[in-house]
Amino acid sequence: MTEQHTPWAEPYKIKMVEPLAMTTRAHRQKALEEAGYNTFLLKSEDVYIDLLTDSGTSAMSDRQWAGMMLGDEAYAGSRNFYNLEAAIQRYYGYKHVIPTHQGRGAENLISRILIKPGDIVPGNMYFTTTRLHQELSGGTFADIIIDEAHDPENLFPFKGNVDLKKLEALIEKHGAKKIPYVSIATTVNMAGGQPISLANMRALRELTNKHGIRIIHDMTRVAENAYMIQQLEPGHAHRSTAEIVHELCSLTDGATMSAKKDALVNIGGFMATNEWDVFEEARNQVVIYEGLHTYGGLAGRDMEAMAIGIAESVDEDHIRARVGQVAYLGEKLLDAGIPVVKPIGTHGVFLNAKAFLPHIPQTSFPAQALAAELYLDAGVRTMERGIVSAGRNKDTGENYMPELELVRLTIPRRVYTQAHMDVIAASVANVYRNRDKVKGLKMVYEPKYLRFFQARFEPLSA
Ligand SMILES: *Cc1c(COP(=O)(O)O)cnc(C)c1O
Repeated sequence: MTEQHTPWAEPYKIKMVEPLAMTTRAHRQKALEEAGYNTFLLKSEDVYIDLLTDSGTSAMSDRQWAGMMLGDEAYAGSRNFYNLEAAIQRYYGYKHVIPTHQGRGAENLISRILIKPGDIVPGNMYFTTTRLHQELSGGTFADIIIDEAHDPENLFPFKGNVDLKKLEALIEKHGAKKIPYVSIATTVNMAGGQPISLANMRALRELTNKHGIRIIHDMTRVAENAYMIQQLEPGHAHRSTAEIVHELCSLTDGATMSAKKDALVNIGGFMATNEWDVFEEARNQVVIYEGLHTYGGLAGRDMEAMAIGIAESVDEDHIRARVGQVAYLGEKLLDAGIPVVKPIGTHGVFLNAKAFLPHIPQTSFPAQALAAELYLDAGVRTMERGIVSAGRNKDTGENYMPELELVRLTIPRRVYTQAHMDVIAASVANVYRNRDKVKGLKMVYEPKYLRFFQARFEPLSA
């Protein structure tokens, strides 16, 4: 482990490089128009620094690549499945494991198995795919995150916490039988990458135990959350990230995981549970949607890379540099006076588009417009996390109007350097200086599900 008095730095050196395309503004203008002002529709070859997502975009280690060569591509009972199962049991402590092609494959399984029509699924803020699968199974999501999470200026360090009073009120109103589980994310993506504290998790466990309600853990970024607990929550500074990860998992009954984030792979995920009956049902369902229960839509080599990535994700030097790099960019933007979500999250820096572009009303998609403008300025690709991502209420058809209207600058793990962070900060500052010229957008094509992925826009003239 590095000494804590030295600054964070990458605990690796570079063995292979991937050249990036440098483009002109005129080229980017054309590319943006062709993409309908949606950064998801840009071609990657037209992007210089890609901060669209930290999902599946990590650089794998030499060990993971070596693991790829050890792929056992048997249809059933691949050696790599047993290595993956052992890694999940060892680092996370869950008993039963079902691999899936990525996180939403696991969300589909758990939602189908546990949610009945009319059920309520409380959670610490929604996530796009998670809520959609809950709704497709007939459930209704209920937000029980603390109010601080909706305020980008609030400096509370654990804005992923659950407001236990909100949960108690839901139990009171609907009865515990209508609540199949509480859905808890570590860290909370839509709040700006904000962690939940261990004290809050323990208290939540106590409350749910009293009512016989499960906790299902969206553990996509559990190592980042555990690191923040080690750094910021009193009483945990002496504990390892790995130990805190294990305790967080132990306070829950099952999990869904997008291994494309924390676990450092380009594709993969899993569902885990401590309940035999739930496992039985998942084993039945996985063959319909993913594949046999010992591969779940993945190649053997993918499962091997995931098993190795899980171990690397809780390495102290790795996680310190990962979160350190995000904080470095965040501090630079704060120093430049840019409105960002505070405190800085663990997987990216979130620009507060309502404060950045106060002249654009939320119905003209300020965050979408800002993401487009950032791409135009220097070829940095980001994504909208505001009214477009929030979608429409499934019953009324009305747009959700989220408090948070954000642009996410998501940092892939082990991919970009400090010099790249400096370019990003300079470009954001340039757009901020010229913010008055940025115009709103109108949506000209709206897909039915998860519209932010494929919607198309045109600039408003005024
Ligand atoms: C990415 C993500 C998911 C969905 O995982 P995919 O691998 O993209 O299907 C679920 N929850 C959270 C918090 C995520 O960030």
